[in-house]
Amino acid sequence: MSDVRIDDLPVRDELRGKSPYGAPQLDVPVRLNTNENPYPLPDPLVERIAERVREAARHLNRYPDRDAVELRTRLAEYLTKTSGYEVGPANVWAANGSNEVIQQLLQTFGGPGRTAMGFEPSYSMHGLISRGTGTGWISGPRGDDFTIDLEAAEKAIVEYRPDVVFITTPNNPTGNAVSRETVLALYEAAQSAKPSMVVVDEAYIEFSHGDSLLSLIEGRPNLVVSRTMSKAFGAAGLRLGYLAAHPAVVDAVQLVRLPYHLSAVTQATALAALEHTDTLLGYVEQLKAERDRLVEELRAIGYEVTESDANFVQFGRFDDAHEVWQKILDRGVLVRDNGVPGWLRVTAGTPAENDAFLDAVRDLQCFVG
Ligand code: PMP
Repeated sequence: MSDVRIDDLPVRDELRGKSPYGAPQLDVPVRLNTNENPYPLPDPLVERIAERVREAARHLNRYPDRDAVELRTRLAEYLTKTSGYEVGPANVWAANGSNEVIQQLLQTFGGPGRTAMGFEPSYSMHGLISRGTGTGWISGPRGDDFTIDLEAAEKAIVEYRPDVVFITTPNNPTGNAVSRETVLALYEAAQSAKPSMVVVDEAYIEFSHGDSLLSLIEGRPNLVVSRTMSKAFGAAGLRLGYLAAHPAVVDAVQLVRLPYHLSAVTQATALAALEHTDTLLGYVEQLKAERDRLVEELRAIGYEVTESDANFVQFGRFDDAHEVWQKILDRGVLVRDNGVPGWLRVTAGTPAENDAFLDAVRDLQCFVG
């Protein structure tokens, strides 16, 4: 059995020789590698989830609400409350993690014969989900300081005419946010070449110093904002992502979604979490303060740090980032080597975890300059 490998199977040509996405999951004392929220859900919320799931369990003989109307209504209320821009359930769609939201968007607006573009380094799943949906991937440019060089980016859009453009703000793995003006200019460029969808990935927006770009969906049916409960809500294990857009976009993704894709248990759990947003957003404030402390202390040690609006920090620069990653791991702390030459990424954890990380990197003295 074991002598048969993936490439011995009649898999699609574009999947040959590829490996699945995923950060190493190593059993070490301090894991700061996947941008998770380090705080477990508070007890009252755990109780509420149990209650709601118990109720949902009574009806598991039936399929769940296919359109997840109650959940989309509560998500719309959360977005309205936190952004000040009013959206309703018709503007919101939910799926199993924002990865599935992105997959549905690419199935709807990408696909064979079409292309998607992102400005790299950025969230690598945009490219991988593109490939998985048969969408060609175009790597757009980013400046040396990891900001989007507007002129170069506009030029790339006009030249390649992608069907889908991804803008991640705050960006992963670099941490920096993209300004409203830049997003608007890229949207215009994407419409001038030919009508294209622009997906603003706001997975980390709750950690930003700035505001959500949600209100940009007003009058722009080709603009989608995608969000997740994996980060700010501390619910990565829940698998709940969502988008806000013109109702026509919500109608369009329903052409590709699997019927009943969101289980009743998922919907019940997400609804319970949405009853506790105030507590959960309190943790976000603590994490923002810890993120700012990481930036400050890393700089004080002598590292270069990219401005961060997320719950993680990119630091460098190293001749051999992977060697440094290993040295930090040898000290019991797992950070992420995203393959950005010279740089590593650390997720803001609890104060004790961040102290452990800072102790580990304090003595390394291996940065360049
Ligand atoms: N977008 C970005 C920018 C991310 O970093 C991530 C997770 N690392 C996601 C989307 C996907 O998150 P999830 O599927 O857990 O919602």
